[in-house]
Amino acid sequence: MDERGVLDPGLLTRLFELGVMGVEIPDAFGGAGASFFHSVLAVEALSRVDPAVGVVADVQNTLVVNALLRWGTPDQQRHHLTRLARDTVGAYALSEAGSGSDAFALTTRATLRGDGYVLDGRKLWITNAAEAGVFIVFATLDPAAGYKGITAFLVERGTSGLTIGHKEDKLGIRASSTCELLFEGCAVPRTQLLGEAGKGYKIAIETLNEWRIGIGAQMLGLAEGALEHALRYTQERKQFGKSIAEFQGVQFQLARAATDIEAARLLVYNAARLRDARQPFLKEAAMCKLFASEVAERTASLAVNLFGGYGFVKDYPVEKLYRDAKIGQIYEGTTNLQLQTIAKQLLAR
Ligand SMILES: Cc1cc2nc3c(=O)[nH]c(=O)nc-3n(C[C@H](O)[C@H](O)[C@H](O)COP(=O)(O)OP(=O)(O)OC[C@H]3O[C@@H](n4cnc5c(N)ncnc54)[C@H](O)[C@@H]3O)c2cc1C
Repeated sequence: MDERGVLDPGLLTRLFELGVMGVEIPDAFGGAGASFFHSVLAVEALSRVDPAVGVVADVQNTLVVNALLRWGTPDQQRHHLTRLARDTVGAYALSEAGSGSDAFALTTRATLRGDGYVLDGRKLWITNAAEAGVFIVFATLDPAAGYKGITAFLVERGTSGLTIGHKEDKLGIRASSTCELLFEGCAVPRTQLLGEAGKGYKIAIETLNEWRIGIGAQMLGLAEGALEHALRYTQERKQFGKSIAEFQGVQFQLARAATDIEAARLLVYNAARLRDARQPFLKEAAMCKLFASEVAERTASLAVNLFGGYGFVKDYPVEKLYRDAKIGQIYEGTTNLQLQTIAKQLLAR
């Protein structure tokens, strides 16, 4: 999947059958009826093996399903959650060419026309776009109103005026699709407005805070996977007449990585726990994403080193995990933006 940059459709079917694409969706809609914390555990477990698969489930659960559970009308929930639990992938389209970290500088326009809206603009970097059946799209009803013009819409694949554009050829998480979306006179019925007109910024802020915990879990799983590979290999590989894991220099590196991972796990679980307990978690979510993404990069890098020459080639999975780790410090708010969020919280006291 990594080489071809394509997610195996059979795997997607299995993810739905296992219930990991609808972790928080209530039983009544065919979901697993579990908690946000369970979504985080699923993302961690999948990412141990393949972080590209982890992010597919992460966007589905912690962004799309989560937003529908909180802001969807009963009709929207019945229609979309039922499909999201069964066989439909969701995507979340906020970023644009000119608005990444400064997300609310978006320029995709929504114009009220008749009994609905018409969307025009271009989104970039949209995870799951190649597979998605439904998109949460952020657009502005009034650019002059700044963030107060931003409104969220549910747009189904196949809607006239929506085109799935160029698919990115990425460094890592290559099996997860990342595409541009083009909106040209895309008519969306009024019933598909999510939340309230002009309140899309609130949906974006709140879901992104939660997605951050999901990315922390993805990076945690990645680090766990890398350490598992390193532990196995260092016990098998012999140099100087013994396994390289018998050298104290190697043992200390493994011990430090395990400690890093334990700390990352506690940060991720704590943020998820606070979120489920409806306690403030903004700072904790930023910290867990910041730290887990750094631990993932450090641990994957160590694993590559411990594999020696084999770490640098594609015969073993650590080369892939090293490439996959990089995204953790970029999407869902770059490392600088997480530091900014944490500092703001500290200085607000
Ligand atoms: C693989 C992938 C998947 C993605 N999936 C999605 C998705 O599903 N949906 C979606 O909406 N978006 C998605 N994104 C977009 C992603 O969230 C943005 O790329 C990210 O927020 C960074 O924005 P940018 O690329 O415009 O970088 P920029 O905002 O241009 O940042 C460039 C650099 O400037 C720094 N910088 C910017 N502002 C500041 C500041 N105020 N202080 C200090 N430093 C600053 C940043 O830290 C960074 O180092 C995805 C991106 C990728 C690569």
